[in-house]
Amino acid sequence: MSTVSYKNGLLHMENVPLQKIAQKHGTPVYCYSTQRLAENFQAYQSALRAIMPEDKFTICYACKANGNQAILHLLGKLGAGADVVSGGEMYRAFKAGIPHDKIVFSGVGKTPEEIAGAVRNDILQINVESEPELVAISGLAAKESAKTHVAFRVNPDVDANTHEKITTGKSENKFGIDIKSAPALYRKAKDMAGIAPTGVAVHIGSQLMDLAPFAEAFKRVATLVEELRRQGNIITTVDLGGGLGIPYKGETPPDIAKYAALIRDIILPLNVGVILEPGRSIAGDAGVLLTRVRYLKESEDRRFLIVDAGMNDLMRPALYGAHHEILSCNEPAQNAVMTAYDVVGPVCETSDTFRAGAELPRTDPDALLAIMTAGAYGASMASNYNTRPLPAEILVSDEQFDVIRPPQKIEDIVAADVIPEWLA
Ligand SMILES: *Cc1c(COP(=O)(O)O)cnc(C)c1O
Repeated sequence: MSTVSYKNGLLHMENVPLQKIAQKHGTPVYCYSTQRLAENFQAYQSALRAIMPEDKFTICYACKANGNQAILHLLGKLGAGADVVSGGEMYRAFKAGIPHDKIVFSGVGKTPEEIAGAVRNDILQINVESEPELVAISGLAAKESAKTHVAFRVNPDVDANTHEKITTGKSENKFGIDIKSAPALYRKAKDMAGIAPTGVAVHIGSQLMDLAPFAEAFKRVATLVEELRRQGNIITTVDLGGGLGIPYKGETPPDIAKYAALIRDIILPLNVGVILEPGRSIAGDAGVLLTRVRYLKESEDRRFLIVDAGMNDLMRPALYGAHHEILSCNEPAQNAVMTAYDVVGPVCETSDTFRAGAELPRTDPDALLAIMTAGAYGASMASNYNTRPLPAEILVSDEQFDVIRPPQKIEDIVAADVIPEWLA
């Protein structure tokens, strides 16, 4: 079921015409569906409930996909934990009311301050990415007389068969520790002060459309857990990461029930607690970016729609060559003649192109377009490049819609700069 669809000729999110949001709040503007966010989270919840007791799993939403307080609060109320990759995201998770014992801290370059914060707040688990990091955590935790649960993020050396910039589980990627050297590290970790190495973590990449790489990675993790137990480590938790893909152009996404069946068959025989860290598959299809056409620029062989959203608002096409469907917010007539447009932003970079050759009905300046599936890695990656303010974010629920982040003011962006006295 789609939460974005045409009704009476207008594109709606739930029961709000998107035109209404653009009229009230301007463009570009991100809109998110409460219902879709909840449904996506609950799909994981029910798939796991079907295979294991409720108190044996934690679904830690990956905040980096979209860390808006309203979204974290909504998911938190439904029972979500949080996967955070910085002190900033940890702060966001706490502020939104996510309990400390449902927060996992991942990331390859944690600072001493961030680690100390995680230790003091007694979070669920720190996922460790290297031996020097383990030593740092041990030292900081011992100083606080704490016992911090850690998991090594292992790199299982499987090809996730996804975009090269979002694959993370191959041996040449910077992520995790080589699975072959894991047993020796766990032996060392067992006797180190301040830490309890009770978990194993894996995350092989993002936007995986196929379950086979997950199955392969899970099997390697299961073999590792058995080996660790044979050498005397106590392993109570397996963190399987995130990464389930979503359709950006009508592809068939992996089935969550089948994904859960892999967990049931490969991981549950180990008798461990399970942590999942989905991000994109929860927020991605819950969001759209609304943008208005400013100019129509036609040359002999090209038609450009110059829109008011840019690569600073939604970076994925420029960064990964990602595809986003673009819909007209006015429903095209049944027999409308489609025209190929290059939909481009105003930023001074050639890569500021949302789509080359988007098939749209004849589009006028001022037309409103929806860039689809923009709920994950959209607003959270936005920047001020070209001194463009971060766009507003709106949360829709049935017929209601409210601002969950106002548009940034240009004055506020510039006010942060400082001219040193010696220059004045
Ligand atoms: C980014 C990330 C995730 C979330 O990935 P999705 O593809 O958005 O589900 C989960 N775990 C870790 C460690 C990550 O870096």
